[in-house]
Amino acid sequence: MKYDIKITKTATPKAKPVDESKLGFGRVFTDHMFMMNWSDKKGWYDGRIVPFGDIPIHPASTVLHYGAEIFEGMKAYRTVKDEIVMFRPTENIKRLNNSAERLCLPALDEEGCLDILKTLVELEKDWVPHADGTALYLRPYLIGNDPHLGVHAVHEALFVVICSPVGAYYAEGINPVKIAIESQDVRAVRGGTGYAKCGGNYAASLRAGQRAENAGYTQVLWLDGVDRKYIEEVGSMNVMFKIDGKIVTPALTGSVLPGITRKSCVELLKDWGYQVEERLFSVDELFDAAKNGKLEEAWGTGTAAVISPIGKLFYQGNEYVVSNNEIGALTQKLYDNLTGIQWGKLPDDKGWIEFVCKG
Ligand SMILES: *Cc1c(COP(=O)(O)O)cnc(C)c1O
Repeated sequence: MKYDIKITKTATPKAKPVDESKLGFGRVFTDHMFMMNWSDKKGWYDGRIVPFGDIPIHPASTVLHYGAEIFEGMKAYRTVKDEIVMFRPTENIKRLNNSAERLCLPALDEEGCLDILKTLVELEKDWVPHADGTALYLRPYLIGNDPHLGVHAVHEALFVVICSPVGAYYAEGINPVKIAIESQDVRAVRGGTGYAKCGGNYAASLRAGQRAENAGYTQVLWLDGVDRKYIEEVGSMNVMFKIDGKIVTPALTGSVLPGITRKSCVELLKDWGYQVEERLFSVDELFDAAKNGKLEEAWGTGTAAVISPIGKLFYQGNEYVVSNNEIGALTQKLYDNLTGIQWGKLPDDKGWIEFVCKG
């Protein structure tokens, strides 16, 4: 089922960024955005692409008071054949609907949502940057938007998609990150919203992130909220370890975000013959492996960076260096394969690529 999309083009298109090496992340936005309203009486209505601009919002809107917000993060790529493609977009749409269910927000039709994303990307195709490592980042989000303060599941909602050309994540080559293991704050608990991609999870994680940054670390590694010992995620990425030849990654217990990069890595690793264990993995087991010389590689996975090697781990006064603070061979292979598929340099054997239009 497709939604009706009324397109109103801007009369004042902006100049495209000339120097793509200065794009950074999420600072430049394209000419248009998608919006669609929902009410419990009408369902989804008024799907529209309009000039990019501010959104008027009622001062009592649910999202401003009770944090009813979920989002997605995905990219459109310009391939080496100058085609515009997306990577596993239906996975993002399914996850958006799972997040919506958790926060009592309305679901979107999968096919209709894919059509929205493709229509918007095609309209903005000249904004998909050309330089190696760049992409057009899409940020779909859905907010509860009732104009009164009563606390209950929403009667009105708004779905928006904005697009931002983003630079190469690793402008100066891939540098391993320094990670501090967080033992005070937790990001999520089982039964909470950890598996939903919602703004509230991010708000709760800012303090630890800031503390880690002030202490000279790039990110925190989150432990579970019950036993405070099982590894969950690193910053806003999933995390994987290569230990004694095997791959270990935290199981999706409900407090871990089910990353699409994580899922894709697991599939590739299994294809390459690795044993992949998705299980509870404690910080003690991690440091035992590090001390015994069995921790071979560690990396984070997520759409923004794709793969982020971990070079140093800090916990309770001790620092451990992973693979000489260099990117490990398997970490590099995952990065090369995923980005190779995304930029059309490698064949898409797994059917992960969604064609949008000619470039
Ligand atoms: C989005 C996100 C990830 C990564 O998911 P991808 O689908 O791989 O981009 C991991 N952890 C958190 C908390 C996230 O919000």
